[in-house]
Amino acid sequence: MRHKRWRADLIEQLRTKSNIKDEAVLSAMSNIPRHIFLDNAFENHAYQDRAFQIGDSQTISQPTTVALQTQMLEVKKGHKILEVGTGSGYQACVLAELGARVYSIERIKRLHERALETFETLGYHNITCCYGDGYKGWPHFAPFDSIIVTAAAREIPEELVKQLKVGGVMVIPVGPEGRQKMLYIVKVSQTESVVQEKGNFRFVPMLPGLTEKYKDGIEGRAKL
Ligand code: SAH
Repeated sequence: MRHKRWRADLIEQLRTKSNIKDEAVLSAMSNIPRHIFLDNAFENHAYQDRAFQIGDSQTISQPTTVALQTQMLEVKKGHKILEVGTGSGYQACVLAELGARVYSIERIKRLHERALETFETLGYHNITCCYGDGYKGWPHFAPFDSIIVTAAAREIPEELVKQLKVGGVMVIPVGPEGRQKMLYIVKVSQTESVVQEKGNFRFVPMLPGLTEKYKDGIEGRAKL
């Protein structure tokens, strides 16, 4: 009960203080129990508009940031979306709630495994996730209607732009540590993209490679 009340307060705050206009995004977020994505110790803080530690020096993004990035994607039912940086899995669930078919990649094995369990617990069957390096994208399922990157890159990863449909959108924070611009990229043709800046943000870095080696080529590729 108290979680529901806190969640309703958070959604109202996103609507009024953070100026989130997209009611579909707000409604999706109001359906997701954010406390499930945090350690029990933080349960009482889960509905504050703040980022939180999820272990391995990583964070679950601040709700305002999740709402802004999601809003920019203009998700339609059935859209095929690639997420780089599964983390806790919260952002993937917001996209799944909006009716997207979500493909999410995480390079830290423990986080990948935990997110996989969370998706099962909450019953999201339209999320496929893997343990892998997001710089490589997920060519098997490309091209994507949109791509959301939830870790900060130094520059726009060209391989990801390649895996975007023409007309598709990529939302990605780009810049040096502690200070990034959110980039809104529209792929207007096979060879051209238009880039707009959408404000300042702070994300954990997007790092190349994996924390542990694959035992075989397909480890962690659930529900293929
Ligand atoms: N979307 C997440 C936020 C995660 S924070 C959520 O809703 O909770 C960013 C995540 O990106 C971290 O878990 C980090 O390990 C992951 N990450 C960083 N570089 C990556 C890469 N190259 N490939 C895949 N994941 C990466």
